[in-house]
Order: sequence, then C-alpha cells, then structure tokens
Amino acid sequence: MNAPVEQTVSALRARLDAHRVAGDRVGVVPTMGALHEGHLSLIREAARRAEVVVVTIFVNPTQFGPGEDFDRYPRTFDQDVDLALKAGAHVIFAPSAEEMYPRGEKTRIRVADLSEGMCGAVRPGHFDGVATVVAKLYSVVGAGTYFFGKKDYQQWRIVERLARDLLAPVEVVGLPTVRETDGLAMSSRNRFLLPEQRLSALAIVRGLSLASARYRGGERDPGVLFDLVAEELGRCSLAAEYIEVREAETLTSAPARLGEGNWLLALAVRVGTTRLIDNVILGEDLLSGT
Ligand code: AMP
Repeated sequence: MNAPVEQTVSALRARLDAHRVAGDRVGVVPTMGALHEGHLSLIREAARRAEVVVVTIFVNPTQFGPGEDFDRYPRTFDQDVDLALKAGAHVIFAPSAEEMYPRGEKTRIRVADLSEGMCGAVRPGHFDGVATVVAKLYSVVGAGTYFFGKKDYQQWRIVERLARDLLAPVEVVGLPTVRETDGLAMSSRNRFLLPEQRLSALAIVRGLSLASARYRGGERDPGVLFDLVAEELGRCSLAAEYIEVREAETLTSAPARLGEGNWLLALAVRVGTTRLIDNVILGEDLLSGT
C-alpha cells in the first residue's frame, strides 16, 4: 500500500476515486493536528460508519487573527499520523497552505448570523476562515460524512449550515465533548496550562455544571445562570471573554425567560495566555457528554 499521507488535492482525489469505485463510504475528520482523545473519538466513530476514513491535518492560517496563536499552535505531525492510523484512519490529508490557498486567491465564505456573537465577536474573521477552509474540504474530499466536535459548538452549527447552503453532498455529524477525568474539556491548547492554571480552569466545569443543574431545578432566568457561572469563574480569578445563553440550533439570543426547547450555555475564558472554550446544553449532565 502507498504511504497513507497525501499532501496534494489531486493525489487525495485520485486515492478517494478508487475507494468510491469500490463502493466505500467516506468518513472525514477535519483537524488542526495535535491530536488528543477528543479527535480520536471522532476518528473512531468515523471508522464505525465508513469504510474509508480521511483525517485532515491543516493549521488553517485564515482562521487565526493577528496576534493569535498561529505560530505557537502545537504541531506534532508524526505522532498525529501514528495516533490517527491507530484510531482507524486510512488516509491523512496534510496539505500546505499554498495547496489550500492557491496564489492570487480571493474567496472567503461567511455564514451570516451563526458567525456573530460568542467566539465570532471575540475573534473577528475567525469563522470566515473556518467556513472557507471547510468549504474547500467539502469540495476536495467530496461526498461523505464529516465529523465535528460539539466542544466547538458554534463551529459545528456553522459547518452544518454551510453544507446545506452550498448543497454539498455531505452529511455533518456533531459528537459529544470528550473530557479529562476531572471534567476539563480536552483541547490541543491544554498543554500550555501550568499546573495551577490547569486547576483554576476547573472553575469552567463547576460553573457550567452548576448552571445546568440549576436549570434542571427550574431556573429559567438566563441572567441568574450567567451570574452563577461568572461567580464560579471569579472565585478562581478567571474573567470570561463571554458567557452566553443561546437557542441551541439557531444560536439566536436567549429571551428574558427561557421557554421550551434546548438552550446552549457557552463560554470562553482566558487562563493566563491560553484561551479555553466550553459549553453545555442546559439541563444535561456535563460529565456524561453533551
Ligand atoms: P481542532 O483540531 O481543534 O480544530 O479540532 C478538530 C475537531 O475535533 C473539531 O471538530 C473539534 O470540535 C473536535 N474536538 C476538539 N476537541 C474535542 C473534544 N474535547 N471532544 C470532542 N471533539 C473535540
């Protein structure tokens, strides 16, 4: 068998054409590398549902703003390939920036409304970069089932809408957040946390769990739930970039009183220089996976 790493669009397409002729279903897991159990859970699920699993590893420059951590984003390629293959991947697509963004490129894709607020407000242009690169993946990797994590909840809703709006021949699946045993959501950025920061980051888990339990107990005022989370973060001297309650599917803002339906409570926090995000569907148990 050829080495399972493809770096060009044409080589990847040729390889997948052969699989499609054989009738194989294609599963796709887009990542920026630095793989951890969260990514591996997506790869394993893809392997359960498809005969050929493509893991893309691409640190997409257009989704990082000036002054963000593009340069220091962890890059652990050889280990990633190893882990991905062990988890059930068959093909790794690892293109260069020049391959994904041809010289003279002019195109950006924007998914309106869903990209506004939350991470979109704190990271202007971020979701345009995400939507643009994922649209390219829909085009390059083509028909198949694409797996995303609900840890990046807003991103999941955006790429889902993107697929529908572009009439892409793809199915988008969102999978639960994988957590460390103490509840911290796994993230490639956790490795930057110093031991004491790692400990204070658990205020995120406590805050979201408390708010979710309070909702389960009947609290319907989003302001009260906000205060609960902010207070818990404050106890560990953490200030949130945002804490928001949104309707879980459309991401529209919460009304003064939460009615029937599913409500997302999402936040971003800076712990030292590391930015962490997390969320819960109100009423659900954070630790059993949302
Ligand atoms: P990233 O490499 O951070 O861009 O993430 C690639 C994919 O893995 C995205 O769909 C993420 O939502 C997903 N992901 C990242 N962390 C987790 C996690 N802790 N649990 C589940 N999925 C995750």
